[in-house]
Amino acid sequence: MLEAKSDKISVVLGTCHGVETDQGSERGNRKVFGVKYAPRGETEEKMLAADAVVVSAGPWSCAAEDWFLGAVQLPMEGVKSTSIVWAKPKNEDVDATALFCGEDDRFGTHLEVYPRPDGTIYICGIGGSDYISTDELKAGAFREECNAKDTRAEAAKNSFQQMSSMYRTDGELDRVQACMRPCPPDAIPYMGAIPGYEGAYINAGHNCWGIAWAPACGKAMTELVMDGQSRSIDLTPFDPSRFTPAAQRGGRGRKKKGMSVGEQW
Ligand SMILES: Cc1cc2nc3c(=O)[nH]c(=O)nc-3n(C[C@H](O)[C@H](O)[C@H](O)COP(=O)(O)OP(=O)(O)OC[C@H]3O[C@@H](n4cnc5c(N)ncnc54)[C@H](O)[C@@H]3O)c2cc1C
Repeated sequence: MLEAKSDKISVVLGTCHGVETDQGSERGNRKVFGVKYAPRGETEEKMLAADAVVVSAGPWSCAAEDWFLGAVQLPMEGVKSTSIVWAKPKNEDVDATALFCGEDDRFGTHLEVYPRPDGTIYICGIGGSDYISTDELKAGAFREECNAKDTRAEAAKNSFQQMSSMYRTDGELDRVQACMRPCPPDAIPYMGAIPGYEGAYINAGHNCWGIAWAPACGKAMTELVMDGQSRSIDLTPFDPSRFTPAAQRGGRGRKKKGMSVGEQW
């Protein structure tokens, strides 16, 4: 979480549990004024004051369905994918060429091989990923620790060793690890305002392109938060409400023509 104070920005590490809101403006929306969170390593809940909140919690962003009391539905699947890193070879240089392989039916892999400047090699495209449901993600599955799948690490190792005699004899794995791809059902990210709330936004669900798209998405979201509208990207296709039935958008309060007009009675 980022906290902006005058000209300074601080990073606050912790787990978000929800948002604090008040009655908001005459437009009938609720207004966000804080984030409820537990600082890292602590259990006691605290509140971080905020006049704008952007939910960017990767696949776990679907928890915001509950933070905004059902005002928006954010179906999400997490694709938990293993990757491996080869240690720097002792007596050889590593060629600075990335390699994208077709499907290797022997091992169920389609390796993407990325040599790094420090001589290690990162490999993903290992196949056999696990699919984690929205409910599991909302409960925080694999959020604190995203463990690798040993059988897939072994498959990637064997597949790569078939291509390199040097790594077959002298290769040493430095690390096996996993991360989670955030996948909305239509493979399109959620980028925009949370319906029925002022000062609440989401930017999540960028599937396998979150690194490449980050600068453009960051710019568009900044424009939306600061100016009320993104000028650099038309965010219409990324509407976070697209899976939310019209009658349900904007919370549980009373509605007139889909617009909140007060508290639930
Ligand atoms: C194997 C693999 C290869 C990939 N290759 C590429 C590639 O080549 N190019 C590319 O562009 N993309 C690639 N991606 C996809 C990219 O990694 C993701 O799209 C990107 O990381 C998503 O970024 P994010 O910030 O939305 O989510 P994340 O990186 O998942 O970050 C979300 C953060 O929010 C935290 N969080 C969750 N819930 C809470 C909470 N309640 N409170 C506080 N914090 C919370 C999490 O701990 C995490 O730190 C790849 C992904 C995988 C798995």
